[in-house]
Amino acid sequence: MTRRRPVYLDHQATTPLDPRVLEAMLPWLTGDFGNAASRQHAFGWVAESAVSAAREEIAAVLGAQPAEIVFTSGATESNNLAILGAARAARGRGDHVVTSAVEHRSVLDPCRQLAAEGFEVTVLAPDETGRIAVEAVDAALKERTILVTLMAAQNEIGTLNPLAEIGALCASRGVLFHTDAAQALGKVPFDVRSGVALASLSAHKLYGPKGIGALWVRARPRVAVAPLVFGGGHERGLRSGTLNVPGIAGFGAAVRLALRERDVEAVRLAALRDRLDGAIRAALDGVTLNGHRVERLPGNLSLSFAGVDGESLISALRSLAVSSGSACTTASAEPSHVLRALGIPDALAKATIRFGLGRFTTVAEIDFAASEIVAAVRRLRSEKASLSA
Ligand SMILES: *Cc1c(COP(=O)(O)O)cnc(C)c1O
Repeated sequence: MTRRRPVYLDHQATTPLDPRVLEAMLPWLTGDFGNAASRQHAFGWVAESAVSAAREEIAAVLGAQPAEIVFTSGATESNNLAILGAARAARGRGDHVVTSAVEHRSVLDPCRQLAAEGFEVTVLAPDETGRIAVEAVDAALKERTILVTLMAAQNEIGTLNPLAEIGALCASRGVLFHTDAAQALGKVPFDVRSGVALASLSAHKLYGPKGIGALWVRARPRVAVAPLVFGGGHERGLRSGTLNVPGIAGFGAAVRLALRERDVEAVRLAALRDRLDGAIRAALDGVTLNGHRVERLPGNLSLSFAGVDGESLISALRSLAVSSGSACTTASAEPSHVLRALGIPDALAKATIRFGLGRFTTVAEIDFAASEIVAAVRRLRSEKASLSA
């Protein structure tokens, strides 16, 4: 089969814009182009009304209040604002922060920055499924701990953390709990009333536009956050800068659609994922699942293929847009820090494929993907066997 473009199975990296989201954005990119901070005329008022509507929609899915939503450029910025902002604001009370080895770079790097500023950072190891046990968090807490930051859903292996338990623990110990919910929002139930103090969100992981996200900052009990961006005092002084009205309108629409379709879509995606997993395992030995068997995102499948070279595997899969187990951000092709933290040997980590299924993924695409990967692994293994014969 020849295809002009590879089959897109990388929905944990980003998702396509849903056409209904684009529809909701268009007026704010064209005629209604006003600045939501313009109080003197109707262009500003209608823009502000679009922002308010989206703020209400996003707050509602979280079980939060609209005034608790701070719009940002995405989860990277939200993670930076939450971690640097909350830790710096709480410095008088303590200087210890807890995170984990499987967090996104946009959590690990701000934590590293805090360490450079004199904070002590504890990096927890996950269990073999990628989960952070509440007991591990409990054991790490100290008198001086001010912040725990752990993700809701892992972007490489899909593992879900026991948020409610960790939230309850942090609440009982008077420690702020931040969670990076970029992968969880709209995919699995996620409610900030589970003991969370700060939550990072991103629109482009749920069929919204890129470059827009939010940080939810709990109002009661109030969470102090020191801003990173200063200027016009937008977003209650927490994030200055003219609001991205089309992006915000799109984010609101994306959240509304995702919530409405979430449970039905989760069942469909899990069935497609199991079909892919089943077809691959029926045809190949030496395939291991990374992550948790049950507590995981429905649209994620991370598999490691023993006995094949990772780089050869990726180059053999040109017809599939998938992600490999190496950090492609660096030329050195180091295995991902997440797979390393799970204790997966480097060679096997490099021979790992993350399949990310999404809203527009079809059965035909899944069957095609399965046959491509099976053929590629078989060919690479037989080449290797004949080389060593
Ligand atoms: C994508 C992602 C981010 C970064 O989000 P942006 O909006 O692209 O900055 C952060 N954390 C996780 C878990 C992600 O999947």
